[in-house]
Amino acid sequence: MTTIDHEPPAAVPPAGGVTDPGHGDTYTAHMYSVLWSEELGWHQAELTPLRNISLHPGTVGLHYGQNIFEGIKAHRQADGSVAVFRPRDNARRFRASARRLAMPEMPEELFLEAIDRLVTADQDWLSDNPAHSIYLRPLLFATDDNLMLRPSPTFRFLLMAFVAGGFFGDEVESVSVLINREYSRAMPGGTGNVKVAGNYAPSFVAQRMAREKGCAQVVWLDAVERRWVEEMGGMNLCFVRGTGPDAELVTPRLTGTLLPGVTRDTLLTLADRLGHKVGEELISVDQWRDECRRGVITEVFACGTAAVVTPVTRVVDGDTDWTIGNGEPGEVTMAIRRALFDVQHGHAPDPAGWLRPIPAKA
Ligand SMILES: *Cc1c(COP(=O)(O)O)cnc(C)c1O
Repeated sequence: MTTIDHEPPAAVPPAGGVTDPGHGDTYTAHMYSVLWSEELGWHQAELTPLRNISLHPGTVGLHYGQNIFEGIKAHRQADGSVAVFRPRDNARRFRASARRLAMPEMPEELFLEAIDRLVTADQDWLSDNPAHSIYLRPLLFATDDNLMLRPSPTFRFLLMAFVAGGFFGDEVESVSVLINREYSRAMPGGTGNVKVAGNYAPSFVAQRMAREKGCAQVVWLDAVERRWVEEMGGMNLCFVRGTGPDAELVTPRLTGTLLPGVTRDTLLTLADRLGHKVGEELISVDQWRDECRRGVITEVFACGTAAVVTPVTRVVDGDTDWTIGNGEPGEVTMAIRRALFDVQHGHAPDPAGWLRPIPAKA
């Protein structure tokens, strides 16, 4: 497939890159678009200026939510180049999400081509501030304008990007969380294990409830027994038992209602490399509270592409609340966060081939 390049738009990055990224609105100059139809398959791949698109009011994606997305980051490397972190894993998950919503599965090579082209074109937006990254947002949505309840026969893929600072600010800030006892994020047989747009709007009201209780994030429990800790809105959870080199890292098992995070998988590997015991298990809220009180669970953190590694230091559950450890970011959390940073920025060996180098601009 050929890629049509258009003239660069007026938007040019500030010299040296963006120094003060906002919160998801400092878009880079381009977007990459590919169409899909039953007759033509994937076609019309284009790198264009980021610009508004025009949609028929009957667009199926707007009405029925046949939409999926991904989130990936590119980082400036020790040698000044730019590399994308584990995009092939996101390409695979994008296919899994598409399958679940009866959408076409984008070939991994086309997904990666889109990323290469966009990041090559827009890499100068990224400064050499190591706290900054380029956040890549792939999106696939149904474009048919026939409102019969059926899968759309046409789709559009878009890849756009913005410059990201730290998710919760540039400094490592710990967060408090509210266990939500009222709503469920995902149910068995549902869509909790894929990144479909419809998973997120229903979580906003729970997020608002957390804010009203002075908490930064909501923790979701399993929908059946309402006792097993699953994850947060866009982040997986990890628990540390013990301290120092003997500390153990555990995370809730992938039961089918959790999103299998690439960061989660990365941290399990890195913790193992650091010599920690790692495990996946079912963890109940009662266990979380009791093990914190007994000093067994010493640290908790959330992880995801956007949030990186964010310490969780306080939990609110109805009228009860408890502090994790001494209420400060823990040592193991910070060491694992550092290890992730090092591999993402090319400061550490990359035996698993997680980094995808991006060609310099021609
Ligand atoms: C995207 C997401 C995560 C984190 O996944 P990463 O691949 O690590 O970014 C966790 N939970 C949910 C619900 C998500 O949507």
